[in-house]
Amino acid sequence: MSSTPSPVLKRRGYDLLRLPLLGALLKHRYGRLVLQLLLVGFSLLLVVDGFWGTQRAPQNLATVASWVHYRGLVVLALLLVGNLFCMACPFTLPRTLAKRLSLRGGRFPKQLRNKWLSIIGLFTLFFAYEWLDLWSSPWLTAWVVVAYMVASFVLEAWFKESAFCKYVCPLGTFNFVYSTLSPTQIGVHRADVCGSCVGKECINGSYSPQPLILIDQIGQSVQHAPSGVLGCGTELFAPQIKTNLDCTLCLDCVRACPHDNIGLFTRSPLAELKDVTAWRKRWDVAFLVIILAFMGLTNAFGMVPPVYRMMQAMVDQLLWMRGLGISDRLIEALVLLSWLGLGSVALPVALTFGAALLTRQSLRKPKPSLREVVATFAPAFVPIGFAIWFAHYMFHFLIGMWTIIPVLQQVLGLQPNWQLGGIPFDSPVLGLMELGSLGLGFVVSWWVAQQRAIAVYGKRQSFNAMLPWLMLFLGMLLVAIWLMGLPMEMRGTDFLFE
Ligand code: SF4
Ligand code: SF4
Repeated sequence: MSSTPSPVLKRRGYDLLRLPLLGALLKHRYGRLVLQLLLVGFSLLLVVDGFWGTQRAPQNLATVASWVHYRGLVVLALLLVGNLFCMACPFTLPRTLAKRLSLRGGRFPKQLRNKWLSIIGLFTLFFAYEWLDLWSSPWLTAWVVVAYMVASFVLEAWFKESAFCKYVCPLGTFNFVYSTLSPTQIGVHRADVCGSCVGKECINGSYSPQPLILIDQIGQSVQHAPSGVLGCGTELFAPQIKTNLDCTLCLDCVRACPHDNIGLFTRSPLAELKDVTAWRKRWDVAFLVIILAFMGLTNAFGMVPPVYRMMQAMVDQLLWMRGLGISDRLIEALVLLSWLGLGSVALPVALTFGAALLTRQSLRKPKPSLREVVATFAPAFVPIGFAIWFAHYMFHFLIGMWTIIPVLQQVLGLQPNWQLGGIPFDSPVLGLMELGSLGLGFVVSWWVAQQRAIAVYGKRQSFNAMLPWLMLFLGMLLVAIWLMGLPMEMRGTDFLFE
């Protein structure tokens, strides 16, 4: 990371932190803490109900809140505002606690400072979700929440930066990727102020409530101490931010900046994806986005009858392995692993290389490297990928929207009203929502690919360069439409149909 901000910054949108009340609350020293404590309280309730409440999944807070409401609300928030879940995420509280205890470890190992671990984390979560039927087990869901808290505590306390958020957390990784089309982004008001700023507290953190005097005027080096404000945990430098990738929207940078120079600005939701300089040209980043888009398809695959019938047939074919002492659960795991490995990793990797080779073939010399070609088109997978997840998650969310009320009533010892559901599952509204979001996702992916192809390869070469990717998006669209047209398992809301 260079410490010099870019001299010219584009004009930004409106700074939401200038809004009365809301801005003051978010910027307040304890603003985030209030949101986190609320979510910690809710998470504890969820864990208690998961362990000791009814084990009927559609009536338990752990399963309903985690697998129906959280996922629906998170995609809505990403689309309408930004990475709000990470902002209020209770799993990052240990970092603050570690600071209070003056714990301070080293940096995360250099070889792991990339997105490969995040991809493995996502794959593991989706595999565990299917294999263990997490959606149908409040008890196991509660264990997942507890494991998450322990993992975040260990990593956040052990390493200097927010290693758990930046390199491991599957939920955060999902949010990072899809917040790249959110309509807000952290930025600075004046680049010249950053140019002459001595402490760079937005990233270094401050050691005093009045660091302007204590640091800038005497030029003292910055030290973390219990009374100070942390700098950016994911090591983003505010004046250079061009992407929401890795931004947890924690606003620590805002609180740390002694010049009140940082804001949360509105922006065009497609500005980042169109900007060919916004992302680093790295294999791990490109494959994260591409693989996550395909995971949207494989995740929905597990819920439609033709696929789980086929998987059951495969398991039946392998039952001879019992003779080798392998249990049925392990055979199921092997089948699932091969399915997910094929659909979520092997297929997207092969198709990506195929498309990149075709693009490269179509270009005049000097030909770009395969990595550059893939990096050029990877951001175009964000809209189609998001559309697939959005259609899927919103389908379940809209059907079970109000079920959270009787579930909470039950947890609080009140008389639950189980009549509350949401939009009927056969309502045309759901079909229109799914088709509309998939169609829009495809068109926007096409547009982003076209804009990037023009910017990188020029207008004359752009169509041929983007054609293989367009075909790929079209294939994903058709598979997604086919999937969404099939009857889907009503996970988490099945009692509405009994
Ligand atoms: S602390 Fe504020 S003024 Fe200093 S570099 Fe960071 S954003 Fe700019
Ligand atoms: S740039 Fe860093 S400190 Fe600022 S909101 Fe994003 S993650 Fe937090």
